[in-house]
Order: sequence, then C-alpha cells, then structure tokens
Amino acid sequence: MPPPSDPDPAGAARVQELMGGRFGEMSTFMNYTFQSFNFRNRQGARPFFDLISNIAAEEFGHIELVAVAINTMLTGATPATDKAAFGDSSMADLKDLAINPHHFLAGGQGALCQDSRGNPWTGDNVFSSGDLIEDLTHNFFLETGARNNKLKVYEMCDHPAARALTGYLLVRGGVHQVAYARAVELLTGADLSKMFPSPRIPTDKIPECQPHIKKKLHLKLYRFSPDDYKEIAAAFNGAHPETGEPLEVVDEAPEGALPNDLPSQPAVFAPDYFPEEIAEIAQKLRKKAGLPDEPLGEVANPADGKSTVKKAAKKAKSKVT
Ligand code: MN
Ligand code: MN
Repeated sequence: MPPPSDPDPAGAARVQELMGGRFGEMSTFMNYTFQSFNFRNRQGARPFFDLISNIAAEEFGHIELVAVAINTMLTGATPATDKAAFGDSSMADLKDLAINPHHFLAGGQGALCQDSRGNPWTGDNVFSSGDLIEDLTHNFFLETGARNNKLKVYEMCDHPAARALTGYLLVRGGVHQVAYARAVELLTGADLSKMFPSPRIPTDKIPECQPHIKKKLHLKLYRFSPDDYKEIAAAFNGAHPETGEPLEVVDEAPEGALPNDLPSQPAVFAPDYFPEEIAEIAQKLRKKAGLPDEPLGEVANPADGKSTVKKAAKKAKSKVT
C-alpha cells in the first residue's frame, strides 16, 4: 500500500462500499465465517468445508486492507499541527469534500463499519442457509458482485491507495469467483461461469493488477493453516476458465507487508489533540516497565511517531532538570 499522498476524503467515502457495502469485504468475511461455523457433517463434505473456511481467513485480511486504504486517503485532510485543533479553520476546508462527515465527526479520520452512503453494515448481508449448493451458488454471486463494485470504485477513484487496493482485490476476488464456480460444478455439473453472463473484468488491461498477475496470484489459493484445510486441493483444481492455466493451492499465507505509520491528526483528536502528551506518557510507562526507549513494534515509513517520541523524551527530560 502506498504511503499517504494528497488526501481524498470524497474518494475515501466511495471506498467505504468495499468495507461495509452489501458486496463489501465485511460481507464476504462474515458470510463464509457463518457458513463454516454452521457447517454440518463437515467430515462428509471436508473439501467444501475447508474451501469456505479457508477463504473466510483471507477475507479477514481484505477488511484490513480496505481500512488501510481509507485511512491513507483521509490522512492530511485536516491540518497536521496541534495548533489547528482549536479555532474555526481546522475543518473549514472539508465543507464540500467530506461527503461522509462521520469520517471526521465520529471516526477520527478512520474507516467506518459503513457503506458508501454511510449506512452501517448489517448481518442481513449474511446468507447461511445450511444448504451447501445454495450457499456456494450465493458465494459465487457475492464474489461476482464484489468484483463489479471493485471495478466501479477503481473507475471512480484515482487516488493511488484506492487503485492499489482495487488492483489487488480484483485479482484475488477472481480466484474466489473461480473457486466457488468450480465447487458448484464439482457438486452438480453446472458450470456457473458459462451459465451466467457475470461481468468479465479485464484484469489484463488494468495496470494495478499486473504485478499480481505476474506473480500468478490469479491462480493461487493460499492455505492459511499449517495443519488444517488440507482438502482444499480436492475442490480447487483444473484449468482457470479464462486463461487455461492450472489452478494451484499454495501451502502458505500471502506475503505480508509492514503497515505504514499514519501520522496523528490532532484536529480530530486522533490519537489526541496534543499527541505529544500521549507519547510522553507512553515513554514514561515504557521506561518504568524496563523497555527500551525506542518502540518495539515495527512500521514502514514512520510518520511523526518517531519524532513525537523523541520530542516527548526531550520534554520529559527538560521537566526533570
Ligand atoms: Mn475479498
Ligand atoms: Mn473474496
């Protein structure tokens, strides 16, 4: 995920559809989670249980990715100095840009559990009938709708974070679409990808999809546990319906990346209207606990975190002397 650049609060409000929309990542995650929790006679249908449960694990990661993109796009939309926390100008520029004011009024410039219209995500979006063929058919439809929404968000947002997000999720959603279509085909003989005119998303023409296609991520299903989900290979195999390349189960989770350290936004009190105060308290607690001066957690592109910590340490020292 690219580090913050120009803020784009209007774009961030659109990306919310991929978080809390009917076809968003919360929906895919919770659909597959409930279907796997409720799965009866899983030993008798093990390859299909493994498939659904394992894809749920991947969707959890996608929720985080969407949040990271939204938070990146909101960064810098209010001034970065604590002076801006008071007075009448710190939020004035947002009058027309913040099409979801909740990002600022309630959310501390962060992702919300809402769709692009600000409606909260609802459990009504979960379909878990217990009928395996119905659930798998629903999941194919869900992944198809999810990719459709991702393409629309791609076209409506030119922010690099939104583009990186949708480029990746379009490729991964394609794998899930194929996985559920193949599962229905193995159970019933019906080839969903031929029967329904689902949107054929031209990922080969979308620049942000290319790095992932080069790494063959359009063909791989990750296995998220060293010990479980070993029967996925029985349900996910054969040739990719669009490219003809062989589908593959890989025994590893996707390559991770350190999160960018997003800077404080004092105007919305995140994490405080005077972040150095919190850093100062944290520094003292760290010292008392016998921890090193430098924070132990790892981040990419430390924003103001490090300098805030250093400033706080200096201030704490000057107070003592
Ligand atoms: Mn997903
Ligand atoms: Mn998916």
